[in-house]
Amino acid sequence: MPFAFDNTYARLPDHFYARLAPAPVKRPELIKLNLALAERLGLDTQALAAPDGVAMLAGNQVPEGADPLAMAYAGHQFGSFVPQLGDGRAILLGEILAPDGERFDIQLKGSGRTPFSRAGDGRAWLGPVLREYIVSEAMDALGIPTTRSLAAVTTGETVYREAPLPGAVLTRVARSHVRIGTFEYFLTRQDIGALRRLADYVIDRHYPQAAQDERPYRALLEAVIGRQARLVARWLGVGFIHGVMNTDNMSIAVETIDYGPCAFMDNYHPGTVYSSIDHAGRYAYGNQPRMAQWNLARLAQALLPILDADQDEALKLAQAAVDDFPGQFEAAYLEVFRAKLGLGESRADDGELVTALLELMVEADADFTNSFRTLCDAALGQDAGLRETLGGPAALDAWLSRWRARLAQEGGADQTRAASMRRANPAVIPRNHCVEAALDAAVEGDLAPLNTLLDVLSKPWEESRQSAALQRPPQPHEVVRQTFCG
Ligand code: AMP
Ligand code: MG
Ligand code: MG
Repeated sequence: MPFAFDNTYARLPDHFYARLAPAPVKRPELIKLNLALAERLGLDTQALAAPDGVAMLAGNQVPEGADPLAMAYAGHQFGSFVPQLGDGRAILLGEILAPDGERFDIQLKGSGRTPFSRAGDGRAWLGPVLREYIVSEAMDALGIPTTRSLAAVTTGETVYREAPLPGAVLTRVARSHVRIGTFEYFLTRQDIGALRRLADYVIDRHYPQAAQDERPYRALLEAVIGRQARLVARWLGVGFIHGVMNTDNMSIAVETIDYGPCAFMDNYHPGTVYSSIDHAGRYAYGNQPRMAQWNLARLAQALLPILDADQDEALKLAQAAVDDFPGQFEAAYLEVFRAKLGLGESRADDGELVTALLELMVEADADFTNSFRTLCDAALGQDAGLRETLGGPAALDAWLSRWRARLAQEGGADQTRAASMRRANPAVIPRNHCVEAALDAAVEGDLAPLNTLLDVLSKPWEESRQSAALQRPPQPHEVVRQTFCG
């Protein structure tokens, strides 16, 4: 029995989901099993890798204790409200408790059509499945809250997109799959009882301290807002662009979820967009804080009916909580970027110092990751790498003097500072062209580049012989300009 399920979502009222089993596939084959994650979850890796385990990971066998279901949710997609979305190609098998007591959802993605599939085949193909696997695991290694990937299997079936492609199923692990859009689903139906039930469920599962508050739902909203501010700040710190920050893709547990057309930025520019569906740049790198706040305003709106019996009072509470986001984001952003610059203390002009460096990077069309990584060497007086990355304009000298003067005020040993900067500035991120190359090889049946990539990305702060290829920015002909939903 690979999973010891302990399900709670399936105990919620029937209209929270549709009960159904995953649709079986022709010929399941295990492509990747995440041993480190399986261990963290207390799962039996041998049982998972055995034929019965693989049948479960493909949806061909419903494991004992599972309560398979597709979750109902709504969502604002690129600003427009869609009253019914729901899991159109995913099945929640159930929840397990890790050895440390943490509760996790086990979900199959690409597991067939559900009552919520309005269009589409309910399936996924190998490219995007492995892409989510790689990027979510890289995010986790970077210490950024995220859903994770337990396994990828191929189905032996063909999925038709622009071309016939190999079908696949991802096993996703999340603290839960409740989204802002889940609240919107019940708001739009004016089902206030369900809204309250959902809020109580989320408080109990993710924000137990809110239950102690005299206003638990306001405390819930504030806690989500605080976590989201910190999460987006962390994204910006590593150059991550989510690409599809619709409210149905915003986890109430505030983990990065739904790795569709996401990307890590190569050269720094706040307007950078990779998502092939983001025509107006709504979810551009630098817009992400604003869009997160917009999404949180949708959550606040959905909570209005239960925030206070007096709706004027409810509106005041909701508005105050949402208005708090920019300040919380700014504080979290400065904390992230202070660490990147090696600043241990907080001063009034820290923001300006960060912005001035980012402006130099825009002018030089410089690689984001490498600019910060070479700054770690500059903390030891070794400027060559930084000058190569930033092109060595005179403005860089002025910035370096200002930065060094600031560091001198703090004191402390350069070695210590450089070491802590190296923990804030990854050597490797999943560069788009490297990810694409590994995916292409995997689809052709060669898993070696995928395995090497995953190995290097699991140690993002380390430079090694293997990391060198991943540290090199793309040559002009290698640049990936767009990423897709799959
Ligand atoms: P996403 O863009 O992945 O967040 O998906 C938005 C909505 O479309 C969700 O309800 C998905 O379940 C649904 N969806 C996406 N791809 C498919 C597919 N291949 N088959 C059925 N539904 C899908
Ligand atoms: Mg989604
Ligand atoms: Mg998606």
